[in-house]
Amino acid sequence: MIRTRFAPSPTGFLHIGGVRTALFSWAFARKNAGTFVLRIEDTDLERSTPESVKAILDGMHWVGLDYDEGPFYQTQRFDRYKDVIQQLLASGHAYHCYMSKEELDALRAQQEANGEKPRYNRMWRPEAGKTLPAIPADVQPVVRFKNPIGGSVVWEDAVKGRIEISNDELDDLIIARPDGSPTYNFCVVVDDWDMNITHVIRGDDHVNNTPRQINILKALDAPLPVYAHLPMILNENGNKMSKRRDAVSVVDYAAKGILPEALLNYLARLGWGHGDEEFFNMEQFVEWFSLEAVSPSASRFNHEKFMWLNAQHIKAADNQRLAGLIADRLTAANVDTRNGPALADVVALVKERIQDLNALAQEVDYFYAKREPQAADVEKHLSGDSRERMLRFADQLAALEAWTAESIHELFKPFCAEEGIKMGQLGMPLRVLVCGTTQTPSVDAVLALIGKEEVLRRLRG
Ligand code: GLU
Repeated sequence: MIRTRFAPSPTGFLHIGGVRTALFSWAFARKNAGTFVLRIEDTDLERSTPESVKAILDGMHWVGLDYDEGPFYQTQRFDRYKDVIQQLLASGHAYHCYMSKEELDALRAQQEANGEKPRYNRMWRPEAGKTLPAIPADVQPVVRFKNPIGGSVVWEDAVKGRIEISNDELDDLIIARPDGSPTYNFCVVVDDWDMNITHVIRGDDHVNNTPRQINILKALDAPLPVYAHLPMILNENGNKMSKRRDAVSVVDYAAKGILPEALLNYLARLGWGHGDEEFFNMEQFVEWFSLEAVSPSASRFNHEKFMWLNAQHIKAADNQRLAGLIADRLTAANVDTRNGPALADVVALVKERIQDLNALAQEVDYFYAKREPQAADVEKHLSGDSRERMLRFADQLAALEAWTAESIHELFKPFCAEEGIKMGQLGMPLRVLVCGTTQTPSVDAVLALIGKEEVLRRLRG
């Protein structure tokens, strides 16, 4: 049974790199009829906040990545971590180290002065035939993991291929602080073990943690999961995404009028591909997904492509749903949609032209109330005999029996011929008079939706 997890640290908002990691873990579980676990890694008591936990849970909900188990919280599992620390002490895989922080700092400074890599000197590591120093009375010990000496840790990363790291690179990791609280890498190991995680799919900023975690798992006689380290997402300039410059929080995307399915679709394409497919839904993604097809190198966020995809998803989305999604924006802009055409019908017409929900919300007002036209438009399209002509056209509209885009359209050609004008000389003044703007979808469809009575009122008013 495949089991994957998403294990965010609640120290900020849910950023899109995190969502991409969650998405790939989720897709791998779904693809293999496995289980997707959500684990909140809140052991860093100073940096973890309840607001951030909420942002993560809300973000997961907004994008629609559903988890089968969890959320589990590491802070609720301290007893278990302490048990496992005792187990490692008992089996000789861990030991108490009484080197105080001051001593360690002094040691490091000395090593640096000698041009050596600063590291703990394993002074308290018990070895056969070694005499340990006398235990100082005033130091609360940390617990260190007895990392193997010599040899290397090798794993076949499902994304990056074979990775080998020499044990000489690895310190005897602190697994419990002086107050007995477990440290980050250790909690991850115990959790992945207890939660029977078969595939650890995470950002490649964790590659350095993996050999330490593997060594601890081996010491515990625990099965090793498959590791898959996902490449970073860079911004358009090729730099790491930053909070200040880039919209990185999921909430930012919601506010920018992005549909969650568009964000997921785009994130799926960052570092993974299936032929030339660009526009797809999550069912298709799950069907096509494989870790082998994940690219090992970083990918760049392309805003234009992202917005194009959002437009495609808006076109494909249900109009009633879109109407619901822009309702709050309309209220904020004082657009009252209670009288007039059904908002879903307006959305169906307008959505062909826009790329995000904010733009969509800005294009529906004139279906409910005429916009104040710009002076330049009035000057350009309603000067001379144009207004009189519009009154003559209003009479023809008034005589229509059926009020449809088609019946309105049928009037255009003969009217233009009769008046000796081009279509633009009818369409543009009509738009300015009825809508207050020249930027509208097809004018026959717009008039049909606004309704006969209201159109005549605006033309004759
Ligand atoms: N908590 C870690 C993070 O937010 C992820 C740890 C992991 O996936 O193993 O970066």
